[in-house]
Amino acid sequence: MGCFLFCALSYLHAIIEAHMKKLLIVSYLLVSCICIHAQSLQSPQQFLGYKLGDRFTPHHKIVEYFKHVSQAASNMVKLEQYGETYEHRPLYLAYISSPENMQKLEAIRMNNLRLANSTRDRAAAMEDGTVIVWLSYNVHGNEPSSSEAAIKTIHALADPSNTNTKQWLKNTVVIIDPCLNPDGRDRYVNWYTSVAGTKPNADPQSREHLEPWPGGRTNHYNFDLNRDWAWQTQVETQHRIKKYNEWLPQVHVDFHEQGYNEPYYFAPAAEPFHEVITPWQREFQTMIGKNNAKYFDREGWLYFTKERFDLFYPSYGDTYPTYNGAIGMTYEQGGHSRGGLAVITEDEDTLTLADRLHHHFTTSLATIEVTSLNAARVQKEFRKYFNDAINVAAGEFKSVIIKADEGDRFTRLEKLLKNNSIDYAYTNAGTLSGINYATGKSETFKTNVGDIVINMNQPKSNLVRVLFERTSKLSDSATYDITAWSLPYAYGVQAYGLTSYFNNGTQALPDQAFPSAAPSYAYAAHWNGLNSAKFLAQLLQKGIRARYAEQSFSAKGQNFEKGSILITRAANANVSDLHTKVVAAADSANVIPVAIESGFVEKGFDLGSGRVRIIRTPKVALLTGAGVGSNAAGEIWHFFEQQLQYPITLINTDDLGRTTLDEIDVIIMPDGFYRFLSDKNQTEQLKNWVQQGGRLIALENAVAQLSRGEWGIKAKTEEKKDDKKDEKKEDYSLLKRYENRERDYLTSSIPGSIYKVQLDNSHPLAFGYSDVYFTLKQDDNIYQFIAEGGWNVGVLKKDAHVSGFAGVKTKEKLRDGLLFGVQNMGRGNVIYLADDVLFRSFWENGKLMLCNAVFLVGQ
Ligand SMILES: [Zn+2]
Repeated sequence: MGCFLFCALSYLHAIIEAHMKKLLIVSYLLVSCICIHAQSLQSPQQFLGYKLGDRFTPHHKIVEYFKHVSQAASNMVKLEQYGETYEHRPLYLAYISSPENMQKLEAIRMNNLRLANSTRDRAAAMEDGTVIVWLSYNVHGNEPSSSEAAIKTIHALADPSNTNTKQWLKNTVVIIDPCLNPDGRDRYVNWYTSVAGTKPNADPQSREHLEPWPGGRTNHYNFDLNRDWAWQTQVETQHRIKKYNEWLPQVHVDFHEQGYNEPYYFAPAAEPFHEVITPWQREFQTMIGKNNAKYFDREGWLYFTKERFDLFYPSYGDTYPTYNGAIGMTYEQGGHSRGGLAVITEDEDTLTLADRLHHHFTTSLATIEVTSLNAARVQKEFRKYFNDAINVAAGEFKSVIIKADEGDRFTRLEKLLKNNSIDYAYTNAGTLSGINYATGKSETFKTNVGDIVINMNQPKSNLVRVLFERTSKLSDSATYDITAWSLPYAYGVQAYGLTSYFNNGTQALPDQAFPSAAPSYAYAAHWNGLNSAKFLAQLLQKGIRARYAEQSFSAKGQNFEKGSILITRAANANVSDLHTKVVAAADSANVIPVAIESGFVEKGFDLGSGRVRIIRTPKVALLTGAGVGSNAAGEIWHFFEQQLQYPITLINTDDLGRTTLDEIDVIIMPDGFYRFLSDKNQTEQLKNWVQQGGRLIALENAVAQLSRGEWGIKAKTEEKKDDKKDEKKEDYSLLKRYENRERDYLTSSIPGSIYKVQLDNSHPLAFGYSDVYFTLKQDDNIYQFIAEGGWNVGVLKKDAHVSGFAGVKTKEKLRDGLLFGVQNMGRGNVIYLADDVLFRSFWENGKLMLCNAVFLVGQ
């Protein structure tokens, strides 16, 4: 029915000026038009039964419309389901191009990968001027105008009467992901629809503009999917990135919404730009921005560029594509969360959903247009990017060696490399020299069979460099996100940077064998990462009794560090099929236990010693709800359910007062502000529970809040400067220029930097670690050393800053204090973890510390 509109518009002037006779002819033409296309493509309004913008379209209806378009325009549109969300909603991609291109879609994809040097036959790549534009909508669920714009965009691309789009599609394949986060979108849309009246109330104070906890921004587990592109901790991202790497588009747009008073934002992005971003990537961003501006100028719409949204942290929908050879961009419309169907803005205008989606629709088409018009150059530069990547890898190192010693922290890093299509190989035994990431010094070190080498001269060169650089160079210190993420620190692996390539790597590794027969005495397993903890979690759930070694020991010629897990036959005499159950637990956790034939160990305490302690199966509760940081709570929830696979009970803080705590062994308080702590009775109730043997694990601001009460821990305040010394000097430091106010604020800011924590790894909270831990510091909170009745397990001494931006004042404060500690209280403990040890679930190295707190401390 698109034809009807086209015909009507084309002949509008004719109708107006028509005599009766002419009008009859026009009517005849109109009727014939309708007849020819009567069975074909319907507009969104015809299909949905309402005008786009009048209502929010639930996810299943978005899918239905995309299915309709792929059927009605099957020669131009192909729809593919690429996965499913945690709440079982389908994830789709639509491929749209000219009928000729659609016939050879697979050949176009393969040629594109050859241009990116990502296939063996890369020499066969052709510069045929065909480009790929990937449009991603609604990664944040409560930024809903973008999926509505996706509907309008696919219609405009498939609509036979739209001659512009037909022209562009001759040399362009458009890939549309109509909704990256269906669970979050439906959470928002269902909530909004349930609280709004028959007509929207544009008063921003009415309830339809104020979402309840946790809001629709995130996915099922409260994860921000626009922070997850590189790490791929969430199922939505895992499915998407697999497809993304099969296509590697030249242009990628991530559609968002921001506060409803903000004008539209599009490329070029703001500083800081990461230094790997090429001049062409900067140049074409600007060209795209200017083309968007042309349409916005025509309508008189407000917009801004070059501010706020930078290109640095590698896990966004703009930076990840950028570090993979694309022009990656974020577009932001005003209206997220509080926009509703209509809202009155601060300049007393009414912003409607229809306005918002129309803006996103306009930039969608303008971006496709400018890419198509410059296709030959875009493709040429894309090829150059990947040729440079394999030929002239820049940066501090030419290769990085990762030691396999850290058990499953290493295997998890290897998985991350695979998920990002990063090339790597295994080393042989040998001796090399390079910069040690942990010390920052040049050292000679030994390689073993199975250590990993990543050479920088590979298609993913820039991505590897960004993920592995020790310190990230900021072109500007005012950034939107964390400024340090170097993977050897985040994963807690031993790594060395080399100034030469390592060309003797091998691809295959010998398989390790699991003990086939049941051992006569015990199984032992190393305690060195999430997989070890997952193994323990599985054992405990199967009713198998496990112990941990408080001291290191040797058996069967192997050294087992503190925290190693032991399963003795004696303690499990009543467990049927013990061997089968241990094998199943080990398999699911990807752990290989060692069979031990005697309790008499070669070094250390025997397996029957009291120093080998029983692990009781803890019942764990997590506080959630209003006041609790939704991302922080989500990280723990996701960790227990999806990674550790251990049951966890979620309790809303409002219900805590009427919860029977007797049956709970561990309560986790994520980052947040807890109102109940200002209620004396409730605080006493919680304290009593700890004194009777409970374990309270407090993280981030929960620690800060406890430090203001009577819980033992106290914040470290800044030391008073000796005023007398500077008495005579006039202090002009208070005189500040107004225009520098944002810069001045930075001296006491820390957007996320890496600090070296000294560990007492003889305490169970630090079992499985060396004597240092690299923490992501996102605030300047630091605590006094615990003087009595507790343990200072992780502390900052002086010169602890490793990587990332930290303001001058923050740097002064962050030294000589406690970050991780245990306070004994009656028969129980309070465990303080001042930083986020699970940050976005990619801070792999912190996961074991949380497991130590849950399973080992206080046992
Ligand atoms: Zn957003």
